[in-house]
Amino acid sequence: HIRTRFAPSPTGFIHLGNLRSALYPWAFARHNKGDFILRIEDTDLERSTQEAVDVIIEGMAWLGLDLDEGPIYQMQRIDRYREVVKQMLESGLAYPCYMSEEELNQLRDQQMANKEKPRYNGLWRPEPGKTLPPVPEGVNPVIRFKNPIGGSVIWNDAVKGQIEISNDELDDLVIARPDGTPTYNFCVVIDDMDMKITHVIRGDDHVNNTPRQINIMKALGGTPPIYAHLPTVLNDSGEKMSKRNGAMSVRDYQKAGYLPEAILNYLARLGWSHGDAEVFTKEQFVGWFDLESLGRSPAQHNPEKLLWLNHQYIQNADPEKLAAATKPFAHDLGIDTESGPDFVKVVGLLKDRANTLIEIAEGAKLFYLPAPDLCADQIKENISESVVPALKDLVIAISSAEPTKEGYAAAFKQVLAQHQLKMPALAMPVRYALFATTQTPAIDSVLVVLGKEEAIQRLSKVIQ
Ligand code: GLU
Repeated sequence: HIRTRFAPSPTGFIHLGNLRSALYPWAFARHNKGDFILRIEDTDLERSTQEAVDVIIEGMAWLGLDLDEGPIYQMQRIDRYREVVKQMLESGLAYPCYMSEEELNQLRDQQMANKEKPRYNGLWRPEPGKTLPPVPEGVNPVIRFKNPIGGSVIWNDAVKGQIEISNDELDDLVIARPDGTPTYNFCVVIDDMDMKITHVIRGDDHVNNTPRQINIMKALGGTPPIYAHLPTVLNDSGEKMSKRNGAMSVRDYQKAGYLPEAILNYLARLGWSHGDAEVFTKEQFVGWFDLESLGRSPAQHNPEKLLWLNHQYIQNADPEKLAAATKPFAHDLGIDTESGPDFVKVVGLLKDRANTLIEIAEGAKLFYLPAPDLCADQIKENISESVVPALKDLVIAISSAEPTKEGYAAAFKQVLAQHQLKMPALAMPVRYALFATTQTPAIDSVLVVLGKEEAIQRLSKVIQ
């Protein structure tokens, strides 16, 4: 039974690259009818914030990444980690090390001077026949894991292929600090074991931790999961994504009028592909997702592509749903969606040209402003005397037209022929009479949305 997890550290800013690390294990679990678990790695008390936890949980809910278990907080499992440390001390898998900070620094300086890789020298590691130094008084030791000596750790990474790390490269990891708090690499192992995780899908910044984690897990009698280490997500200028170089948080995208479906589709393709499919539903994605198709090189964030995808989803959205999603943005712009034309119709009119929900809301504004109060000079300047007879006939044609796009188009056509005019010569003054601007969507559609009565009332004011 497949079980995956997303194990973020809530230490600040959550960008799109972070959420991708949630999407893939989620999709893998869903594809295999397994379980997906959220584990909050909050043991770094100084850097963890509730705000970051909220952003993660909200962001996942927004994208529809549903959980089978969790959120589970590591801070609530401290007793469990301590218990395992105790067991490991008792069974000889771990030992106390009394080497002080100063001694460690001295050792490191010496090793560096000899051009050696700095590593703990095993001074306090018990071995048969070895005499340990006398235990200093009043010093709380760290607890170290007895890493195997000789041989190597080998795993078949689902993304990177076979990786082999010699045990000589790994020193004895600190699993508990002098105050007894367990360390990060240790907690991950206990959690992955206790939670019966079968596939660890995570960023490749953790590759270096993996051999250490595998050794601890094996020492504890566990079977290491399958690891899939995802290449980094770079920003559009090829740097590592971070807040400092302008990455946006999930909330920022929400506020900028992106649809969660578009973000999910976008993230799916940020390091994974299925043939040349670019636009697909969540269900298709889950149906297609496999670890074999994960990319091996870093993925690059492409804001234009995300905007394009958002446009695709807006254009193809159900107008009712799209209107509901757009309403908060309209309200932010001061639009009272209840007074004026049917908001669903307005959104339907604007969606084909909009890239974001904000753009729809901005376009909608026109329809909810009061009828323009044009003064004589404005009318004179924007509506020429010569077009007034045509406008009068248009009012008549509109009043008897079918209240549809086709009906109004036919009314225009008839009046244009009657007066030997071209479309812009008539449509521009009409737009101006209706809204005091000539920037509007197609005039026949505008009439449908604005409504026959309102349109006639507004037109009548400029032709008296
Ligand atoms: N907490 C780690 C991070 O946010 C992830 C650890 C893991 O997935 O094993 O980078």
